Amino acid sequence: MLRLTRAPNIAIAALWADALQQGGFSASVQRYFLGGLAGELPPDQCLPEVWLTHAHEEQDARELLHHLQNMPQRRWLCACGETVEGGFEACWQCGRPMAA
Ligand SMILES: [Zn+2]
Repeated sequence: MLRLTRAPNIAIAALWADALQQGGFSASVQRYFLGGLAGELPPDQCLPEVWLTHAHEEQDARELLHHLQNMPQRRWLCACGETVEGGFEACWQCGRPMAA
């Protein structure tokens, strides 16, 4: 197992892990289970992380991740009131797709 990166929140971690899995990597999100304990632990202990099962995939996985993290910046307001930034096409708060 190898830690690839730390994500700012669980929605982004899941999005990155999904994209990596679709790219054929052995990615998974760790620390899901600490979500319910947030507030009782130091904040940096609660952030979700994206891990690779197979460490030899690291270089290619980091390349894909770099693309994911550097998507064209976009900012839109979801119907639920959440401002979504960073190139996401679905609201990380409620899951609604971006309005056309
Ligand atoms: Zn929303």
